[in-house]
Amino acid sequence: MEGLVVVISGFSGVGKGTIVRSLMERHPDEFAFSISQTSRKPRNGEADGREYFFVSRETFEENLKNRLLLEHTVYEGNYYGTPREFVENQLKTGVNVILEIEVEGALNAKAIYPESYLIFIVPPKARDIYYRLKNRGTESDEEIIRRMKKAAYESDFIGSYDDIIVNDDLETCIQEVYDKICLRRERLNRTHAEGAVYKRDFTELTKEEN
Ligand code: 5GP
Repeated sequence: MEGLVVVISGFSGVGKGTIVRSLMERHPDEFAFSISQTSRKPRNGEADGREYFFVSRETFEENLKNRLLLEHTVYEGNYYGTPREFVENQLKTGVNVILEIEVEGALNAKAIYPESYLIFIVPPKARDIYYRLKNRGTESDEEIIRRMKKAAYESDFIGSYDDIIVNDDLETCIQEVYDKICLRRERLNRTHAEGAVYKRDFTELTKEEN
């Protein structure tokens, strides 16, 4: 069977990056991380080709025109997109591909790959994110309000996800994400195998009739 597309989304600051990194480190043979292209500038500590492929707006638009991106979105005025070829190649080898993308991209990925598995990571309470940002003191009050508005908008999409996983204790959350992906994959293996048996049997029956 081909690999599974696993989409991980979550509110800004919920820790989804850490969860994805841990999954990759612990199960390097089972997962491939899709490194997105973005037109936003690198933040401190980010490296080209590791967190993102950082490109100009012009290059992004050119890539879009040439259909090199599987899905894309505009977030906070910057382009973000998933490189098509990497995802397709990895899936063919049977590896699960992780897309860490926002809500609109998640729904687009689901439309392209109906079997993809959509996980939304949440904090135990909305206030947890609010206080984390407040205490950090690096964002202005306006910025914090803007993020709360964005999170409220994103909350509308959670109903379209396959699972919500709470990041209360990080270790428990990582394990839960991994277990749920394995379960999903096993179930798909089973239904695919059963489908193949029916296909074979019905195909045989059409031959007998002719
Ligand atoms: P950041 O700038 O904080 O790294 O990412 C901003 C948002 O863009 C996050 O919600 C992240 O998950 C999302 N994102 C990153 N790459 C992609 C992508 O290729 N496609 C889509 N649709 N969203 C992305």
